[in-house]
Amino acid sequence: MKYIKCGAEVFEFKPKPLFKTCSYCEERAILRPEGTSLYLCKDCFLKFCEKRVNENIIKYKMFSEGERVGVFLSGGKDSATLLAILKKLFPTQNIIGIYLNLGIRYYSEYAQSAVEELCKKLEVPLHIIDLVEREGVRIDDFVFTSFKDKVCSVCGVIKRYYFTKAVKELNLDVIATGHHLDDTLSTMLSLFFNGDFISLSRLRPVLPPLHAGQAKKVKPLFSLPELDIFHYAVLSDLPIEGCSCPHGELTPAKFWKSWLNDMLKEDKTFKFRLLSIFMKKLLPLLPKEEPEKEDGFYPCQVCGEPTPSKSHICVKCRRVSLLQKVEDKRLEWTAEEFLTYYSQNRDKILVFDVREKEDYEKGTFPSAIWVDPNLVSAEEKDFFKHFKNYRRKELIFLCYSGRLSYLFVLRLRKLGFNAYNIKNPEKLLQKID
Ligand code: SF4
Ligand code: ZN
Repeated sequence: MKYIKCGAEVFEFKPKPLFKTCSYCEERAILRPEGTSLYLCKDCFLKFCEKRVNENIIKYKMFSEGERVGVFLSGGKDSATLLAILKKLFPTQNIIGIYLNLGIRYYSEYAQSAVEELCKKLEVPLHIIDLVEREGVRIDDFVFTSFKDKVCSVCGVIKRYYFTKAVKELNLDVIATGHHLDDTLSTMLSLFFNGDFISLSRLRPVLPPLHAGQAKKVKPLFSLPELDIFHYAVLSDLPIEGCSCPHGELTPAKFWKSWLNDMLKEDKTFKFRLLSIFMKKLLPLLPKEEPEKEDGFYPCQVCGEPTPSKSHICVKCRRVSLLQKVEDKRLEWTAEEFLTYYSQNRDKILVFDVREKEDYEKGTFPSAIWVDPNLVSAEEKDFFKHFKNYRRKELIFLCYSGRLSYLFVLRLRKLGFNAYNIKNPEKLLQKID
């Protein structure tokens, strides 16, 4: 069983047979579902996950026959597993996959390929919304705005806008997302400790529409552990892309998720107990969101969509308009473009090679400075310290495929540096061999 990472690296996943018989049949067990004392073979494990999802859908009345269900796909394991299970449990349901291509370099295209392959395999129609086609901008471009260190918050605004639009364009009754147990609990803990009880009350497995034109939002996987979902996806040979968004990789570590997994070492049912306390004891105490009043909305003067904004311009259009003032949104050079530019601007350019040291030592671009590739995930102050003397220079980064060096560029741009990536570095390196 294979899965792909960042459009290139192929990872193998081979579960080792356990020295146990399956708890449900005579086959050799290969897995233990998280938080249980079961030993399961492949088929029984898949059925076990499907049964849990089915129970959630029925218990919370997530959708009914005849309703149009849109599944938001990201290219990753969670939404792929959701689509596969829904299609298997409800083969005649009207289900449609939706993918929003945010134009994020070294991520969106790989994810789109995985989503296209998945929908083809499962025979599910796919609706793609392309941000570059619709708005002429990429999420990456926001590193040139005052939101440079809050790119995820702008991305959230744009995603919500286009998901709402997809509901209308596709006339959906229900939208389903792949949020799982670890997502639910880590978000719950983070909101709880921030005292954000309004957002906490939205962490329900079903959210009814708040105004006309909205769809019901459901999370059929909300009680499935992330690890079980990963195993389901690879055991079912679902096309998934393991690459994560370069902006997400630059945010602080997923503290609560790793804390939850640490707690499992003490008590293997910890996550389920916490979910049960949240659902049974805390959620009933929180007020449900009231439906929004229709008369508090105005059509946006730019896009026409309803907005509660007093300026009559929706928040998505306000964010996108910030980019109209940015003349040069270049973050990457091709090797050829760079060589021409370099020949005329040598004294203002510094080139950094972020490949492994042994490859750097075998040959690099003339004058390139080696930077430890691990620096990209260093603490902010250490990362900044490394580059602080180069503020006035144009910093050019190269690696093997362009992806790692792009992470350096994004991180430096967020700190206000003038950094660029080399898109096809192999050509630049070949040039000097
Ligand atoms: Fe958007 Fe941030 Fe998620 Fe990337 S990590 S897709 S920028 S919200
Ligand atoms: Zn608008």
